[in-house]
Amino acid sequence: NEGKVSVNDLDDMSQTSYPLCMRQLHRALKDTHHLRHWGRMQYGLFLKGIGVTLEESLKFWRQELGKGIGEDKFDKEHAYNIRHNYGKEGKRTNYTPYSCMTIITKNPPAAQDHHGCPFKHTSPDLLRQKLRSYKTSNDVIDEITDLVKGQHFQIACQKYFQYTHKLEDSSFLVTHPNHYFDESQKILK
Ligand code: SF4
Repeated sequence: NEGKVSVNDLDDMSQTSYPLCMRQLHRALKDTHHLRHWGRMQYGLFLKGIGVTLEESLKFWRQELGKGIGEDKFDKEHAYNIRHNYGKEGKRTNYTPYSCMTIITKNPPAAQDHHGCPFKHTSPDLLRQKLRSYKTSNDVIDEITDLVKGQHFQIACQKYFQYTHKLEDSSFLVTHPNHYFDESQKILK
């Protein structure tokens, strides 16, 4: 995927092709110019996975976090970690974007956090409100709420995918936010 995605397109793509977990991180970053550690990790690695190059990533994070803390502080405190995620620092491990299972089961978000899986970590009332604000039909909101109650978080996410991509059925199970994105792009392009 590398190099196919420009950071100028992220606003649009976040509304059409991102799963809710990433849409929420993107919005929070754009609105507050701040994300705590696990939010930066979850979103940063996702961006790498959709094909944002290291250079574009640095530009994007500098622009967004820099508005909060200043670009100098960004360069001192965050640039290293971004290069690190791309395997350019430290042990040069090439870190992979988190799967749904990892997001659902590890590092649960605290109140000030925006990472995690909204189907798992957002209260049912807030989730309904959020889905309504994304213009989801009441039927689908009800179905998603039932799935979430039964702890079927990924199936709830899949339901949302089907709805937003106008599919009767979808043959893939959502197991990874990057897979969600790729499937969406295949349909929309
Ligand atoms: Fe993201 Fe996976 Fe949760 Fe969907 S099920 S919102 S892709 S973590």
